[in-house]
Amino acid sequence: MAKTVTNVTAVQILDSRSRPTLAATITLGDGTVARAGVPSGASTGSREAVELRDGDASHFSGSGVLRAVANVNGEINATLAGRSFVDLEELDRTLIELDATANKSRLGANAIVGVSIAAARAFATSEGHQLWEYLQPAGVTARLPVPHFNVVNGGVHAPNNLDFQEFMVAPLGAPSIAEAVRAGSEVYAKLKGILTSRGFATGLGDEGGFAPQIDNPEEVLALLVEAIEEAGYRPGRDGVAIALDPASSEFYRDGLYQVAGESLSSTEMIDRYEKIISDYPVWLLEDGLAESDWEGWEQLTARLGERVELVGDDILCTNPVIIREAIRRHVGNASLIKVNQIGTVTETLDAMRICRDVGWAQFVSHRSGETEDTFIADLAVATGSGHLKSGAPARGERVAKYNRLIEIEVASALPYGLAH
Ligand code: PGA
Ligand code: ZN
Repeated sequence: MAKTVTNVTAVQILDSRSRPTLAATITLGDGTVARAGVPSGASTGSREAVELRDGDASHFSGSGVLRAVANVNGEINATLAGRSFVDLEELDRTLIELDATANKSRLGANAIVGVSIAAARAFATSEGHQLWEYLQPAGVTARLPVPHFNVVNGGVHAPNNLDFQEFMVAPLGAPSIAEAVRAGSEVYAKLKGILTSRGFATGLGDEGGFAPQIDNPEEVLALLVEAIEEAGYRPGRDGVAIALDPASSEFYRDGLYQVAGESLSSTEMIDRYEKIISDYPVWLLEDGLAESDWEGWEQLTARLGERVELVGDDILCTNPVIIREAIRRHVGNASLIKVNQIGTVTETLDAMRICRDVGWAQFVSHRSGETEDTFIADLAVATGSGHLKSGAPARGERVAKYNRLIEIEVASALPYGLAH
């Protein structure tokens, strides 16, 4: 049934890093009201949809989003209010056409994605469905995803010398979300104890993981294996495995990867990863190479693609056009999925369908700057994507997503885990 939009508004709120972002609210003719909080990245891909910031140095050091807020309250509201839409796709298409740029830079991807997420939620509620039920594509089996807990933070997310950005623990062998969350929390607690006993500080990075002053990624991996074992789990795919997001575009300079004091070529970097996956139970590697290093990625995929999931984040930007190109060139075998990288829910679902059609995995993700919005939990469930990352098993904006998964698990009889 067509949905009539009565009103769309936005306000400027704070994200988890104390930077301004938007909360969008949509009201439908049947009285449904839904809200969305917009996330924001720090290690962004250069081809992401454009986040509109005010640039007024006297206001939040230029990072205000009042122009994006005004675009929602003004142009977007004027276009949507009073109109009926047969589905979310039609509403998203209207937003894309109204913006009329290739990268959503006119109205701002932050403005557009807030309205798109709020609309998805409103349409689901209006139809009496759970959000994940509403988002579920035809022919897809919904699943509860394996949570990937980012327990050690480095790179641009932490003030330490660790070049790799994210070290995640993934309870692939858990029987349920509830048990997976327990495993994540128990490993996190053991890791804190181990770090403390070795004299490392246990302050947190942007995604709630510890940010110890350690240079070598291998040293962190050894500590993770210890924490997993100490918590009583088996390190590996039948227990708790490890996933890495080095976010390597951030340490790629003049064609070389700068890691822990060494300058490595693409081939040497791949050699290093090959040793890492032989020595530690790493099952997934995201952004192992830089977004501009497509030749390196081809080599990486040829050499390690059969052994680990190779996820493209900065290189793909949840962009259907770029994902198609990567599939054609055998660059990676999975895409990270961040709704605000492309800017609408419909285009995100398109990107996921393109992956699904060729057997590529889809790794649903939060951003380092977050709100309490839990949309990505429902998205991961709806699409049967099998895995999701939302930071540490700590801090409200991170655990909100994991807690939403627990809620869905209790209310449904959905299977847990990777489909493959
Ligand atoms: P970002 O980091 O949200 O700061 O971009 C997340 C990631 O790189 O996966
Ligand atoms: Zn990433």
